[in-house]
Amino acid sequence: MSQRSVAEALARKLPAMPFVAGHWQSHSSAQPFDVVDPVTEQTLTAVVEADAAMVDRAVESGHDALDGEWGRMDGATRGELLHTFARLLEERAEDFANVESLDVGKPGFEPRVIDLPQAVATFRHYAGWADKLTGQTIPTSGYMGRSTLSYTVRQPIGVVAAITPWNSPTMIGAWKIAPALAAGCAVVLKPPEDAPLTSLMLAELAEQAGFPAGVLNVLPGRGVTTGNLLINHAGVDKISFTGSPETGQIVATAAAKGFRPTTLELGGKSPQIVFADAGLTAAADGVAAGVFANQGEVCAAGSRILVARDIYDDFVDLLAERAAKVVLGDPFDEGTTMGALINARQRDRVAHYVERGREEGARVVAGGSRPDRAGFFVEPTLFADASNTMTIAREEIFGPVGTIIPFDDDEQAIAIANDSDYALAATLWTTDLSRAHTLARRVDAGAVAVNGWSPLDPRLPWGGWKLSGHGRELGLAGLEADTELKTITIVL
Ligand code: ADP
Repeated sequence: MSQRSVAEALARKLPAMPFVAGHWQSHSSAQPFDVVDPVTEQTLTAVVEADAAMVDRAVESGHDALDGEWGRMDGATRGELLHTFARLLEERAEDFANVESLDVGKPGFEPRVIDLPQAVATFRHYAGWADKLTGQTIPTSGYMGRSTLSYTVRQPIGVVAAITPWNSPTMIGAWKIAPALAAGCAVVLKPPEDAPLTSLMLAELAEQAGFPAGVLNVLPGRGVTTGNLLINHAGVDKISFTGSPETGQIVATAAAKGFRPTTLELGGKSPQIVFADAGLTAAADGVAAGVFANQGEVCAAGSRILVARDIYDDFVDLLAERAAKVVLGDPFDEGTTMGALINARQRDRVAHYVERGREEGARVVAGGSRPDRAGFFVEPTLFADASNTMTIAREEIFGPVGTIIPFDDDEQAIAIANDSDYALAATLWTTDLSRAHTLARRVDAGAVAVNGWSPLDPRLPWGGWKLSGHGRELGLAGLEADTELKTITIVL
């Protein structure tokens, strides 16, 4: 059996339905939805959509878990359950990688090298935090002449609605589930309708790991139906969302009713700045990976490539060579380095931006067309001689399209980098230490890396500002974001 057939068989065998209060729900008043393979354009499976009653039940069961055994469980025991979950995920990593490739259309090495190891590491990292959430003892000036014992404790924020995007649903799901469970919260996960399959597998693992019913509920469904019901549910205490700024705004508006906190990660138009003193071959490899990895469907994609004028022509050639070497194809074919985009809408959106780039006068130095084959493919594309005012430099394309802009000096590089509606990530390519440290502080981005990409590591906080959203996931910041801080004072 080919690996593709193995993956297709796995997808057909999955419980394609909501997982609520520890049970799989096969009956819904909502219409099921089809999950389409982006490479063959064929339906992989039909999934039962979570209806209003299931959303209610999921949120309620989250509260039941918090009021029951889960709420009383000590951190060390929660940590053990998270370790068990991590082990089970590691054991099934190959199945997850196959299904993620099939569902998202990404080449097999990506989930094997990035998504799955990162997801496992995230569960392990937060398993270790579950018994280390401490407060502070704080001296005061006393109360009416008496001294006090004042201290803070961190409590779980409650039921967390986690809404994930289709580009890396397992890894981003882990980013939201693991810290919330470590903090003692319950989670209602709404996976993306375009790629929900591995999230259903996460529900299977939660059941196997032995989490009490209601601790992790998974509600497959469309954004406008299930997602909308979830974000407007009064029983949801916090919303953690990764997706587009447009949907992020809908989420923030819904959360404002009741002043429920949100963590919003909404993408970017991240600059990669290549200085004349950079090691050019390594920089070209890194820049190409930064713009083309995962078909460019990455919130942190380094899609604005700013290059020092002294090296501009040479560097454009180096990048164009790398784009030409990309092998588009079936993620299950040996040698494929770029798969298909998620759906026809996304392919057409990318094609529209490529057209705009041409109309606005940028020069295509690689790609620029749509391959003549089935599947939602577009060629990796690079525009040179672009300006930062062009649409292709301002708007997030979420596809394999890079816009190369020249600059004359450091001041201009920073001015161009920061002239953006987004502030998520940035990379600097330079061998000058002083320049690296000085400019890393000046560039508007939640994560800056020098001479490489910021490693996706659960220990490092992740998130941005401006249209890129607010709040941080991962690291201690991501854990604290799933807690409420309470101050307790005893008058002695
Ligand atoms: P895209 O348009 O690229 O699919 P979105 O930001 O719309 O990106 O999707 C990210 C996630 O948000 C998905 O899980 C999607 O189902 C969900 N979503 C979309 N619209 C809404 C909405 N109105 N309310 C809640 N969730 C939504």
